[in-house]
Amino acid sequence: MTAEILDGKAAALRLQQTVGAGVARRTGAGGRPPELAVVLVGENPASQVYVRKKRSQCEEVGIVSHAHDLPADIEQETLLALVDELNAAANIDGILVQLPLPPHMDAQQVIDRIDPAKDVDGFHPVNMGRLALKLPGPRSCTPRGVMTLLEDAGIVLAGKDAVIIGQSNIVGRPMAMELLNARCTVTICHSRTRDLEAKVRGADVLVAAVGRPGFVQGDWIKEGAVVVDVGINRLESGKLAGDVDFDGARQRAGWITPVPGGVGPMTVATLLANTLDAADARDPVY
Ligand code: NAD
Repeated sequence: MTAEILDGKAAALRLQQTVGAGVARRTGAGGRPPELAVVLVGENPASQVYVRKKRSQCEEVGIVSHAHDLPADIEQETLLALVDELNAAANIDGILVQLPLPPHMDAQQVIDRIDPAKDVDGFHPVNMGRLALKLPGPRSCTPRGVMTLLEDAGIVLAGKDAVIIGQSNIVGRPMAMELLNARCTVTICHSRTRDLEAKVRGADVLVAAVGRPGFVQGDWIKEGAVVVDVGINRLESGKLAGDVDFDGARQRAGWITPVPGGVGPMTVATLLANTLDAADARDPVY
């Protein structure tokens, strides 16, 4: 068997077009376009790349983005004061603070300070709680993007055994909630999990979010499984690789995401969708 490719690039483009149409609907009806504040602290090269991508894609779909580039040595209080200001700004629908923050800062305190209605990353405890309770609200971009990708391919999830490797706040945990909400039976694996291979072998749906290239071996994959590789690892050659041995897994899986071109583009497109949703919720246009 050779797996079908879950083409995140193409699905992200479709999602961008949908968001663009939503923005045009707002402005065409006399409303204002959504506005996103993008806060970048310091000069982490990977963060700079992500932020550039987010800002340019906002522009493409008609979302207004406001750049707040701050020096690496700013005080926690200065960043909190900026968040307060953005929370109070009537025109700002979404606030994104690019992570990681420099080591002297407390990222959780910053996340906690963002107005949950403007939390387009879906990281605020209120929004994580809403996801856990299956209530509407902003949902974290990477897991929501994965769900959109699976829905877009027409993959039926109810009743499937899903295994997630990784338990981070930004991927593993919200991903588990998403799959539970889609009525999968969910197992979350992490660095202390015993016999990971056996758990992966039983997975109808596998989501890998570890951060180690080729960590999941191809022959662990169940025949016909859906394999979602969230990992983004830079190899010495400069190439990007996922957490799954793609060539091996592709011989057994039914569906598989490539890296790059799988989950990554969906994450950015979902940020745009979350920003439009926030604008529609805060300032509806009829
Ligand atoms: P993290 O470091 O916070 O979490 C990694 C997880 O892997 C941990 O929960 C840990 O318990 C688990 N783990 C580590 N070693 C393990 C082992 N031997 N067996 C089982 N589990 C093990 O990472 P993260 O922020 O969740 O990101 C994971 C990967 O996903 C990274 O490569 C990151 O770059 C990538 N990522 C991609 C996107 C995207 O848009 N595609 C978004 C976020 C993160």
